[in-house]
Parts: sequence; structure tokens; C-alpha cells
Amino acid sequence: MSQRYVFTPPSIVGVPVVGTDEQLPVHRIYCVGRNYAEHAKEMGFSGREDPFFFIKPADTLVVAAEQAPATIDYPTLTQNLHHEVELVVAIGRAGRNIAATDAHHHIFGYAVGLDMTRRDLQNEMKKQGRPWCIGKSHEQSAPIGWITPAAKLDHLPAAAIDLSVNGEQRQSSHIHQLIWNVGEIIEHLSRAWTLQAGDLIFTGTPEGVGPVVRGDRLQARVDGLTGLDLRIA
Ligand code: MN
Repeated sequence: MSQRYVFTPPSIVGVPVVGTDEQLPVHRIYCVGRNYAEHAKEMGFSGREDPFFFIKPADTLVVAAEQAPATIDYPTLTQNLHHEVELVVAIGRAGRNIAATDAHHHIFGYAVGLDMTRRDLQNEMKKQGRPWCIGKSHEQSAPIGWITPAAKLDHLPAAAIDLSVNGEQRQSSHIHQLIWNVGEIIEHLSRAWTLQAGDLIFTGTPEGVGPVVRGDRLQARVDGLTGLDLRIA
């Protein structure tokens, strides 16, 4: 007899994979804090700290590709919703204690994502030494483009990453500016948690974060990946 539930379980969150009719089923979303030096500076920090992490629930994802733009609602409780454009790594094979040099065996692909942040709430929590959840993990806080399989990419480590709002460039950097690169992030993360197929890792944002308002159009891009196109309602 098949399992019965007291109500219908939520459906699996999936992200389309470029060039296929398949989706990556998402398990968890890990995010790296302050992973570009110029962004750390604009947030008031300097020096190389160990990478640190926070988590967004899988159902905060909103698929918003340039081929199929999406709209999110301006969230509650904030007067200062910020954009953070980030390279997203999709894990395809489980593992723990993964060495940086072996990390590529565990990577399924890459996408561009936005770590949308209620900055006023995050700053208040920082000040009080409290968790960041209310600033980082609200509904629709993780817009993402389609995933490009790693096997189809040549030059990702040198890729440009940028974000524009209403056609005006706000963030522009290169993936090689990451303080902790993708392999190192996976090494650190997989000591703390067992990575699972379907985990996504938002690798941190470069400098230039700032507020958006209702009606804004955000377009984000990492060279070699499909772009992201999002409106705020
Ligand atoms: Mn971020």
C-alpha cells in the first residue's frame, strides 16, 4: 500500500536544465556570505575570513530566465530590498569532506541567481547578534536562471558577472574575484553538511549591491550561462 499523507505534500521545486526538457530537483540552498573583497568592504569588513554560510528553503526559488521572465512581489516588512547577483553551483553527486581538487566531480552545472535581501532587517539582526533568516530567507528571495550543465562550459572561472536595473549597470565583476573559489567553497561546506544531489550553492555577491523598488526590471548575467530577467511587482 502506498504511503498516505494527511494532506497533499508540496511538490518538488525544479530548475530547468538548458538544452534538455528536464529539471534539476532542488534539495537545499546554501549561500556564502561576503565572498568578494570589494563587497565585504562595502559591508564594513576586510581581510580573508573563513567562508560562512546560511540557508534558504528550496521553495524560495523563482525560476526567472531570459527566455521566460518572471515577476516577484516586493516582500513584506522591508523598506530596503537589495539585489545581490551571484554565481550558483548545482550539485549533481552527493559527498562529504570533498577536497577542493575533487569538487568538480560533484558539480552538475551552473546558473545565475539573485540573493534578494531585506537589508534593513538583516542589519538589525546583525546588530543584535541574531540569525539572518528574516533578512535572507523570505518567500521568493532566490530568483534563478536556467542551469547550464558543467560539461557544456569551457571558461567559467574567468567569467564576467553583472546585473543591471532598468537597463543601468549596478554590479559588475569577474568570477575569479571570488575570495573562496567554487572548489574551496565545496570543500568547506561539505565538512559541515553532507552535500546532496540537488543542492544549490549561491557563491556570494560582488560589490554594487543596492535597493530595488516596485516596477524595477533586473537583468543578471554570467558569461556562458543563460541570463536572468525579473520584475518586481
Ligand atoms: Mn549573498
